[in-house]
Amino acid sequence: MQCREHLFKILVIGDGKVGKTSIVNRYANDKFSKDYRMTVGVDFTMKVVQWSDTDTVRLQLWDIAGQERFISMTRIYYKEASGCVVAFDVTNFNSFCSCINWKKDLDSKAMLPSGALVPCILLANKCDLTDWAVTKERIEQFSQEHGFIGWMETSAKDNKNISESVRYLVDHIMMSH
Ligand code: GDP
Ligand code: MG
Repeated sequence: MQCREHLFKILVIGDGKVGKTSIVNRYANDKFSKDYRMTVGVDFTMKVVQWSDTDTVRLQLWDIAGQERFISMTRIYYKEASGCVVAFDVTNFNSFCSCINWKKDLDSKAMLPSGALVPCILLANKCDLTDWAVTKERIEQFSQEHGFIGWMETSAKDNKNISESVRYLVDHIMMSH
């Protein structure tokens, strides 16, 4: 049986404090912290997943580093990305609106070797909180309008849909490989 190894660079972008670092920590280390610490410096976390009997996937999760306020990252950061997560905080309407700009920034700076857009999932994070600032219908429409592969409500705090959303994204990446 032929065994294959894949290395995928996954970007995690979105406004400050939406939970990007928490999502990465939950996914890679199964940890959650209530304390907010601004991510400083370029940071990536590796996670190795036995995807199937024959396929091993190494995921490099690139968390952005306190540059969120610029809503624009350097091309170096985007280079050779295989997939992307754009996250917002369901209780923060501005962070939802910003996702348009994050998606545009991604699409203007990154593409797959085939020339196709980098597959990108939209995460409605902090879904454990009750005071949502946006409806699910609106998120669904937004996700379709702006070319996301789909969206999921997630909670890094309650560990809801974190590994599911990464799997959904990586399935998409694997399909186009
Ligand atoms: P980042 O700036 O996007 O990396 O955001 P952080 O991961 O640092 O999270 C910002 C704050 O939101 C921290 O206080 C986290 O504990 C909190 N947080 C992150 N994810 C969740 C979540 O799913 N639910 C709740 N209630 N709080 C969260
Ligand atoms: Mg962070």
